[in-house]
Amino acid sequence: MPELPEVETIARGLAKRVAGDAIESVWLGSKPEPLKSTASEIVSALESKRILDVRRLGKHIVFDLEAGNNGTGRAQWIVHLGMTGSLLVCSPESELAKHTHAIVRLASGRELRFVDPRRFGRLSVIEKFEAPGAEPLQISFENFAALFRGRKTPIKSALLNQKLLSGVGNIYADEALFRAGIRPRRRAASLTRDDLRRLHLSLKRVLKEAIRLGGSSISDYLDANGDEGFFQLKHRVYGREGKPCRVCKSPIKRIVIAGRSSHYCPKCQK
Ligand SMILES: [Zn+2]
Repeated sequence: MPELPEVETIARGLAKRVAGDAIESVWLGSKPEPLKSTASEIVSALESKRILDVRRLGKHIVFDLEAGNNGTGRAQWIVHLGMTGSLLVCSPESELAKHTHAIVRLASGRELRFVDPRRFGRLSVIEKFEAPGAEPLQISFENFAALFRGRKTPIKSALLNQKLLSGVGNIYADEALFRAGIRPRRRAASLTRDDLRRLHLSLKRVLKEAIRLGGSSISDYLDANGDEGFFQLKHRVYGREGKPCRVCKSPIKRIVIAGRSSHYCPKCQK
């Protein structure tokens, strides 16, 4: 599942390719699951609109659309990629992938296609989208620390709670906890101010580093260009069960917390 750095990479790639282009027409497939707004709402919000910008909010891709000719307010097209969703910019001649659920025809002659084999991705239109949680790259230390006050859940679960922080997923939660030296099962409320300071810093660092490297390629994630990210080469704990810690050589452990795999070093993390 793409996480914040992957979605950021995809949104930046899309902004480079389609910002400024106009949407001529929209085709939507017959499968109902990918549509969170109705088909007619999506078509009328998108058709004949210019794409002003493409950016990431939480794990969502936001297309800012120009206001319509009749002066109606600006709309946003929101794409959530789910587990296997992808957005491809291609020529109309390129072969139609299986599981294509939407085709947006652009004035430049290209097409923007939404492909999603497992159909957990969602398309919607809204006037102004707001992610439910705080933006992890922007949150101040005081606000970050306040998120975990009094929380009895493991810190790992709190990091994954999208109502607290928007866009942090399994990989980057494990990697940030390793870099901060904190075990994933620690109760969130038990973290000291020093622990929280290290966690705040390492979460931002790990997300920024991953964005710089174009995200992690796990199974079938690719960016808008079809290129793979390289952050997986830097994983210190995620997916490294039994392998030696890159710092102390102890074997990395894997445990399950709230149904999700968590990886940590029993010596470097307390
Ligand atoms: Zn270690």
